[in-house]
Amino acid sequence: MGSNPSTASVSKGLLHAEDSHKVMEYNTSTNKVPVSKGLLRTEELYTYLLETSVYPREPQPLKEIRELTASHPRSIMATAPDAGQLMTILLNLVNAKKTIEVGVFTGYSLLLTALTIPDDGKIIAIDMDSETYEIGLPVIKKAGVEHKIDFRESKALPILDQLLQDDANEGSFDFAFVDADKPNYCNYHEKLMKLVKIGGVIVYDNTLWGGTVAMPEESAPEVLREGRQPTMELNKFLASDPRVQISHVPLGDGITICRRIY
Ligand code: SAH
Ligand code: CA
Repeated sequence: MGSNPSTASVSKGLLHAEDSHKVMEYNTSTNKVPVSKGLLRTEELYTYLLETSVYPREPQPLKEIRELTASHPRSIMATAPDAGQLMTILLNLVNAKKTIEVGVFTGYSLLLTALTIPDDGKIIAIDMDSETYEIGLPVIKKAGVEHKIDFRESKALPILDQLLQDDANEGSFDFAFVDADKPNYCNYHEKLMKLVKIGGVIVYDNTLWGGTVAMPEESAPEVLREGRQPTMELNKFLASDPRVQISHVPLGDGITICRRIY
């Protein structure tokens, strides 16, 4: 039966192109982005994944920051907990001690990093808006990990350039997480390829951009249209970059894991 062409062409993925419109449905009257962060075939499947494998293992402080963020009008921007869970494993696998985060928002991914790296670890966390960072800060303080965080309120590129001016920073970072302005992702990549060591890992968030990367532009919801093209460009670029191994993982809104190989 394996030779039956219709059987052979059946997708193994759990992401469903036709249904993605359904998953992507959003309230046109309020112009609100979808509540779900998942790209799986059904909402139920994503809920199943979260409730079975993610929430029961999610550290209490992360739950708190997630719940604090839920009422924020831009809560959709927070890192998806399922993607966060994989990030935690990656941080452990590379024994991350020195990391960079571009795009902090209320601090879900920042706190998970701070909880994972050792007590003398350091995170340079960059966001041009410190107001949202302050929402999560009490939880970060209560968790006793604020001393690992060096928060810089700024656009990210100048900070990365500033870091590169000090030779000691070159190839010194174990891990970077990029989750900010999509049109700059390729620029961040060039800087991070110098800052992250060989064998180190860079993770890019939202690399499936609500599924719109596989939709004609006209079908993409208005709110997602602008980020679609830069995301597609980044994906092509990373796939052709011989300096990294990659894995494009359909967790959350899609994350791309890059491991610097030279
Ligand atoms: N990782 C976060 C979500 C980040 S959302 C979490 O887990 O919750 C994206 C963030 O990027 C926003 O807080 C926004 O202020 C910030 N941002 C957008 N453009 C930026 C830029 N050019 N430089 C630095 N931060 C930027
Ligand atoms: Ca994100």
